[in-house]
Amino acid sequence: MRSKIRNFSFLAFFLGFCAFYGVVGHELSAAETAHWTYEGDHGPAHWGGLDTAYKACDSGTSQSPIDITGATAESLTDITFNYDPNLGIINNGHAVQMDPTRTIVVDGTTYTLLQYHFHSPSEHTVNGKQYDAEAHFVHKDSSGNLAVVGVLIENGDTNSKYSKMWGKLSKIKNSGDETSIPFNTDMTSLLPHGKKTYRYDGSLTTPPCTEGVKWLVMVEPIQMSSKQIKQLQAVHKDNFRPVQALHGRTIKEDND
Ligand SMILES: [Zn+2]
Repeated sequence: MRSKIRNFSFLAFFLGFCAFYGVVGHELSAAETAHWTYEGDHGPAHWGGLDTAYKACDSGTSQSPIDITGATAESLTDITFNYDPNLGIINNGHAVQMDPTRTIVVDGTTYTLLQYHFHSPSEHTVNGKQYDAEAHFVHKDSSGNLAVVGVLIENGDTNSKYSKMWGKLSKIKNSGDETSIPFNTDMTSLLPHGKKTYRYDGSLTTPPCTEGVKWLVMVEPIQMSSKQIKQLQAVHKDNFRPVQALHGRTIKEDND
């Protein structure tokens, strides 16, 4: 567990980095490691050999994404999403503190939202079906363990909840571009109405492919128009890792 904490210590840096709170593209990229891509010599099939830090991409046995199929129905405790837009104001005993933190609670453990980002098409598939896109809401608990909420996105109606963000996509066409948006939206509106999830133990879907990530993929997809999906793809397209072997892992699904 200690090494995991060290591995994820760079995430604190990430928070300040992501002025555009929803990041298009990479999962969680560590600095000072080998360049990787989604195609060619540095593509997913080669990640494990690009850098010793990436060896889990090849040798790991609980890698993500996966094809979600044959899930075991269980009565799971709902995830609590504390995603509302209100700023907490706290007397912490020493000072007046503002608390913009957004959290989820999973089985009694609180995870703080670090960032969210998008892949198109989706990384997870359900019974072999790949969706048009997938959002990853990345959270971390106080011990450094990650929990990622995956939201599958299918072609359909225009999703007005994403309009403000999508209006800025043309400003971040190139790697390193940054912008910001006034964001006081209740972030639960970015999620599907139904809060049922598929759950399994997996990994980061980008190098270093670190395992020990709790995956919570929402059963109900959200919709975006084909125009919105094209706008996303105009920045990053085909930024998905192919599905990985299950290696005997079980997938759970809410049955209530
Ligand atoms: Zn991701």
